Amino acid sequence: MDEIEKRLRNVEHEIEQARMRREAVLKEEPVQLIAVTKNHDVAAMRRAIDAGVTAIGENRIQEAVGKYEALERKVQWHLIGHLQTNKAKQAVRYFDLIHSIDSEHLAKAVDKAAAAIGKRQDILLQVNLAKEESKSGIYREELDGLIACVQELPNLRLRGLMCIAPNYEDVEDCRPLFHEMHEIFWQLKGKNMPRANIDYLSMGMTHDYTIAVEEGANMVRVGTAIFGQRQY
Ligand SMILES: *Cc1c(COP(=O)(O)O)cnc(C)c1O
Repeated sequence: MDEIEKRLRNVEHEIEQARMRREAVLKEEPVQLIAVTKNHDVAAMRRAIDAGVTAIGENRIQEAVGKYEALERKVQWHLIGHLQTNKAKQAVRYFDLIHSIDSEHLAKAVDKAAAAIGKRQDILLQVNLAKEESKSGIYREELDGLIACVQELPNLRLRGLMCIAPNYEDVEDCRPLFHEMHEIFWQLKGKNMPRANIDYLSMGMTHDYTIAVEEGANMVRVGTAIFGQRQY
């Protein structure tokens, strides 16, 4: 079996196992795997898609556009990295879901870019729950304000939340944070906002995705465990 296919099967298995460890109300909810292909070539992407990957994640627009043009396969495109307002135009052209909206300024730029091509852009809001200065994402206290702003932007559709956990030495330290994210997600879902469809909680990467799934993630972004170490 192809090496990427083998690793993919293993990740899928781990996700299923973690899902079965959830509390009863969450067990039935499926988990979508985003295969993160940054720094891996189009040949690797083809192998993953042929092995069953339906959604890929990229973190840089430039790299994604080149691959988009080269890849003759149909797949969902997810932008998971920080987005600059001057790249909003390209982002709305190529990506089905943007995970990294974290300011009103950026939300407005993406709304405008989506309007220009007659698209309603699906977005997630990236939350920096641990308040790491090195990371993007909005702080918890500012989240309600950003949600209110996004609700007023007709070319955006809010689909949920995203977070990146800190790189703790002991990965178990991520658990309370994922737990809190899930609570915020559920509160948001319960609000029944007329112009939003709150469906996705995007959290978990190679080193912490099983914990994220146990705590209620329904979208995980996994690169290394599928494609191996990235060469920079
Ligand atoms: C690179 C990246 C991932 C995947 O990381 P791995 O450790 O390779 O699984 C997930 N999310 C974001 C935002 C990333 O930039």
